[in-house]
Amino acid sequence: MISPSLFGRVACPVCLEPEGCTSCRGSGHDDCVSRYAPRVACRCGGPDKVRLKEAGDVLLCACCGARYAVHRTDGYVQLVPAQSLGEGTHYADHEFHERLGVTEAPPLLSAGIKFEWMRRLLNVFPGEAVLDLGSGAGKFALACSAAGLKATGVDVAPFFLPGATKTVDLVVGDLRRLPFRKDSFPAAYSLDVLEHLDEAGVREVLVEARRVLGDSGRLLVYTHAMESSRIASFQRGVNRLAKRLGRAGLIDHEREAMRKSDHRNPIRSHEHFDALCSEAGLRVVERRYYNVVAKAVVEDLGLRLYEQLRARGKRKPTPPHDHDHDHDHGHEPAKTVGGPMPGAGTLAIGRVLTWLLKLDMVFFGRVRTGPFFGLIRPVPRAVAPPASTEPA
Ligand SMILES: [Zn+2]
Ligand SMILES: [Zn+2]
Ligand SMILES: [Zn+2]
Repeated sequence: MISPSLFGRVACPVCLEPEGCTSCRGSGHDDCVSRYAPRVACRCGGPDKVRLKEAGDVLLCACCGARYAVHRTDGYVQLVPAQSLGEGTHYADHEFHERLGVTEAPPLLSAGIKFEWMRRLLNVFPGEAVLDLGSGAGKFALACSAAGLKATGVDVAPFFLPGATKTVDLVVGDLRRLPFRKDSFPAAYSLDVLEHLDEAGVREVLVEARRVLGDSGRLLVYTHAMESSRIASFQRGVNRLAKRLGRAGLIDHEREAMRKSDHRNPIRSHEHFDALCSEAGLRVVERRYYNVVAKAVVEDLGLRLYEQLRARGKRKPTPPHDHDHDHDHGHEPAKTVGGPMPGAGTLAIGRVLTWLLKLDMVFFGRVRTGPFFGLIRPVPRAVAPPASTEPA
C-alpha cells in the first residue's frame, strides 16, 4: 500500500539538506557523498534528508537527481540508493523467499513469541505509526496492521505477502540509508535482522534509526549476541538430534539451515551491543533473553517431525533442490510471495503450541544468554545545537 502519509515521510536515502551546525552543514551533493557518515551522525542531530518531489510514478531528488519508482499496482515505493553499499543478502532473492514458506497466518510459535514481546516492550497503542525495519515479506507488519497499528515496512527485497501490499505502507530500501525524514516514526522494531549485517552495518542502522525516531521515539530489536547460557546447551543437544534426524530424512532441517545461512553475527556480547547503541546516541533500557527449551522441543523437533511424517503420508515429495526451478522462468515475474493460508484446525493447534512456548519467556526471560529483546531509547542530546543557520 502507498498511503498519502507515506509521501510526507519519505526522503532521498543518500541526500542531506545543506543546513546544519558548523560541523555538519554542507554545500551541494558532493558533501552528501563524501561526508555522509559524520554529517548524519553529528551531535546536533545532523541535517534532515532531502524531501522528494512527486511527479507521476516517480519521486525526484533535486539534490542528486535520482528518480525513485512508485509501484502503485504492486503497492510499494522503491527507495534503494542507486549506488550499492556493499554486500547483498540472500533475502534479495525471490526463490529464497518462496522457499522460506511464509504465509499470511498470524505469527505463531516462536514468531508469535517475538511478535508478542515486541508489542509488550514497545508498548504500542492502536492507531500509532510503527516502522518495521527489515520487514521481509511483511508478516509482522501485516499482523501490526491487523492489530490496528499504522505499519510501514522497509526491506531490501520487493517480495511481499499480498495482504501486506494492501494494508501496510511498503518501502524497498536499505536499512543503512533509511529513506525517511527525521522524527518520522514514534516507534520502530527490527526482528531477526541485525544478525544479517556486519558490525559497520549495525552501526549505520542504529544511527539511521536514531535519526528517524527523533528524541522521543523507541526501538525494539530482537537479535542475538554471541553468548550462551547453560540452558542453551539443552537447545544445542536438541539441534544435534534434529540434524541427525534431518540426515536420516526424518525431518526437514534444510529450511532452518537456509534461514541462518547468511548470518554474520556481528554482536559479540551484550556489552558490545550497549556500546554500539551508545555510539549512535541510543541506550538499551530493558532486555529480555530468549532461552529456548519449550521451543527447542516443540518447534525445532516435534513440529518438524510431524510435518515430515504428514508430508510422507500424502506422498508429497519434498521440494526439489536448488536450480531445478528454471522451467518456471517463462511465467510472468512473481512480485508477491507466500504459501496458502493454513486451515482453521492447524491454526488452532498453532495457537496452543504458541501458548506453550510462552513458558520459555516466563521461566527464563531473565537468564542471560545470546538471543534477546532489547528496548532502546534515544539519549537526549547533551548540548543544544549551535544556531548556525542564523547570521552571526
Ligand atoms: Zn551538526
Ligand atoms: Zn545530495
Ligand atoms: Zn538525492
